[in-house]
Amino acid sequence: MNNRQLFQQYVAQTSPAPIALDIVRASGNYLYTADGRQYLDLIGGISVCNIGHCHPAVVAAIQQQAATYLHVMVYGELVQSPQIQYAQALAAHLPAHLNCVYFTNSGAEATEGAIKLARRATGRADIIACNNSYHGNTLGALSVMGDEYWRNAFRPLMPGVWHCNYNSEELITSINEHTACVIIETIQAEAGIIEPNPDWLRRLRNRCTEAGALLIFDEIQCGFGRTGKLWGFEHYGIEPDIALLGKALGGGMPLGAFVASHELMQLFTHGPVLGHITTFGGHPVSCAAGLAGMQALLAENLIAQVAEKEALFHTLLTHPAIKAVRSKGLLLAIELDSSEAVIRALGKCLEQGLFSDWFLFAPQCIRIAPPLTITHAEIEYACGVLMGCL
Ligand code: PLP
Repeated sequence: MNNRQLFQQYVAQTSPAPIALDIVRASGNYLYTADGRQYLDLIGGISVCNIGHCHPAVVAAIQQQAATYLHVMVYGELVQSPQIQYAQALAAHLPAHLNCVYFTNSGAEATEGAIKLARRATGRADIIACNNSYHGNTLGALSVMGDEYWRNAFRPLMPGVWHCNYNSEELITSINEHTACVIIETIQAEAGIIEPNPDWLRRLRNRCTEAGALLIFDEIQCGFGRTGKLWGFEHYGIEPDIALLGKALGGGMPLGAFVASHELMQLFTHGPVLGHITTFGGHPVSCAAGLAGMQALLAENLIAQVAEKEALFHTLLTHPAIKAVRSKGLLLAIELDSSEAVIRALGKCLEQGLFSDWFLFAPQCIRIAPPLTITHAEIEYACGVLMGCL
């Protein structure tokens, strides 16, 4: 059997037709395959590889930590310097009250932990989430996901979850004395890049405070400079009670986190003790990699270049087949007529060395979320190929 057949035989599949490129190497903005081809990566591992693949500083940090210690003990018991250093760096770049980090293995686990913290802190059960939202695939995160197609086969789900439209008045008026938390993506990604109305976000914040409900912003996809600021919520001047981080957080290694105030996070230490535990969360190698990645992101001034790269995409993405281009920084959705048109275009792009994808709740849109290191020349090349494929 060749590698592709072995992959199909032995590795669990999640769709009938995986892309199945046989990757031998990834570096900077490119993926390299066993048949000697290279692909310009337009999705960065789905908003993970913001500083490009295998950044040398991240690789060095991994190598150094791997030679020092790997797993030593379950989360939260031993002092591990990669965790402390990264938590401190994150707190230094977050609003003052977001000063305590709980590291997880993934974004979904960050969602799970934050939901538990909100219930523990408020003593309330209800959770308000948005239609077309994505917060992960574990059962709790799936329960707050806003799409019936992906939820329905796995019922019964977590009770007490109410879904409203993003940006809707209904969401704000639904918050009451039973609401533990409202969880939203700061900028909806899988819905095909939908921004919050700033006034709605402000009123949502005020209503949560008034009702004693916690506000959770999922920054897992829009964080780490993707939208042109370090955090998506910085665009609107509104701060959450809990921020969810993931994807680019680990610099390419598996890592998630939920960040809250020290006072809130202390609730996990009693009633019950060990209120939220994990074996591998905050793995020292992941934390070392993540810190090196964040330092590189900031040192290389990548975030400041996002707006002009976004503008260049907009200038070059002109074709009668394009119905709309929505974006926030280097998180773009190119809307076509149908999901079939998207699949056709993506197939042709792949043949020509461009790697892209669609969105879960917007299959009529092409996803563009390249490493922030993508160059102007690469954007010009990518848009040229893309226009040809349309
Ligand atoms: N939240 C958002 C906005 C996401 O985009 C994702 C993943 O795509 C998650 C949560 C879940 O993260 P993970 O796949 O690491 O569990």
